Amino acid sequence: MELVQNFRWFENGEVQDMVIAGGKVVWRGASGTGPTATLAKSLNGATIAPGFIDNHCHIIASGIDLGRLNLTGLDSHEAVLAALRDRNLSEPDGWLLAVQYDQNRYAGGHLTRAELDQISSARPILLRHFNGHASVANSAALEIANVTAETPDPEGGAYRRDASGAPDGVLLEAAHERVWGFVPDPSVEGMADAIIRAGESMAGYGITIACDMQTGRPDLLSELKAYTLALENGCPIDLRLVIQWGAMFGRRAAAPEVIQEHIAAFEATGRGRVVGIKIFADGAIGSATAAIYGAYEGAEPEHGTWSGQLMYAPEKLKAMTLTAHDAGYAVSVHAIGDYAADLVMDAFEATGEPSRHRIEHIMLMSDAQIERLSKIGCAATMQPEFLHRFGHAYLRNLGAERTAKLKRFRSVLDAGIPLSLSSDRPIVPGDPRLAIRTASHRPAGFDATENLTPTEAIFAHTVEAANCLGDTGRFGTLQPGSDARYVLVDDLL
Ligand SMILES: [Zn+2]
Repeated sequence: MELVQNFRWFENGEVQDMVIAGGKVVWRGASGTGPTATLAKSLNGATIAPGFIDNHCHIIASGIDLGRLNLTGLDSHEAVLAALRDRNLSEPDGWLLAVQYDQNRYAGGHLTRAELDQISSARPILLRHFNGHASVANSAALEIANVTAETPDPEGGAYRRDASGAPDGVLLEAAHERVWGFVPDPSVEGMADAIIRAGESMAGYGITIACDMQTGRPDLLSELKAYTLALENGCPIDLRLVIQWGAMFGRRAAAPEVIQEHIAAFEATGRGRVVGIKIFADGAIGSATAAIYGAYEGAEPEHGTWSGQLMYAPEKLKAMTLTAHDAGYAVSVHAIGDYAADLVMDAFEATGEPSRHRIEHIMLMSDAQIERLSKIGCAATMQPEFLHRFGHAYLRNLGAERTAKLKRFRSVLDAGIPLSLSSDRPIVPGDPRLAIRTASHRPAGFDATENLTPTEAIFAHTVEAANCLGDTGRFGTLQPGSDARYVLVDDLL
């Protein structure tokens, strides 16, 4: 047994000690009153909290991105080309893929395929914009995707063209998605490596457990195999999975007994568990596809009383929620707009046990909706870092007044709704410290009366996040029996 001595507990500032054995807490309480144990560490009065929990993220995608060339911080064509040249030498095979491209940072705007062809004309190269809606391709990538001067633009997208009409390499929206569709899918081993890479990155942030929020797109069985392999091969964090509805119940889903076999193998590792089913109700604010009451800024309501996109008609959403509920699963539904939030609450109520389920994001909520959510009793998770990264897009599409009221942490918490915080990585880098700081000090343009206290924000990224995953007392608490990893938090208080 090892003693960790003389720290302050984040919830009340009490000076405490903790006794640990085999990575688990044996005892924690007032300093100097515990069982005898070998002194492992004295923290000299530093404040600690349990290791963080990220209960809404996309683990394989995060790990794959971490393995790609990252262009963050580069601010000229020359710098981007130099980074590509280095990468082309150090990893010469397959597609050369880079992320976090941002033409707004470069004099001259977008790179073109001619510039990328200088790096390699034989090997396909793709640079993905940080917003995920655009890319630049070289000639080899366009050739693999069969894009020529004669190729028409796809619906909802465009191949930007030079004066002669030939594609110049810049791919917008559907054109970008189409070309990315030719990038080979990773193997099970490749996905397992990505999961471990994501796990190592998250462990570096002090995260002890993460929940993937859409397992099974594109392929549930190979993803389950990859998650199992990652845990067997030393992934440093425990894993929870919320499986995409279609991968479990859709027409193309594998046979239920085959899925259950794969889940059983994953859970047999002792460090993985499937905790629910994911459904999307609507889109996002930046692309004006979140389902909101009224209209987007400068526009008329698109559908009478509301605007944006529903992924499913309300009755279909209800039926899908019921299917998952009846199969014994907790359901997590993505609802960004206020109109979507009401439809999700309708669907949860229709199950008769709404408090078993989770609502994701709830960026736009009226007072009446918050009251309704509190009565229903389901848990909510929000991603503070979005406010930090996407403020401009929110302002453009919603205007100042509605933007100020996005993500009402304080009102949601005060209404008694179990509120957890998470990242949605790889959409954002996902440092929990930045999330906690943003939730307790909302950026300019966002109503400061919706701030949490730092202690409440830490609670939401630890204790409440664990509750939401069914890991109460196992993670996120440092109570006897729980995982013993902790983080220092004086910089957050
Ligand atoms: Zn997500």
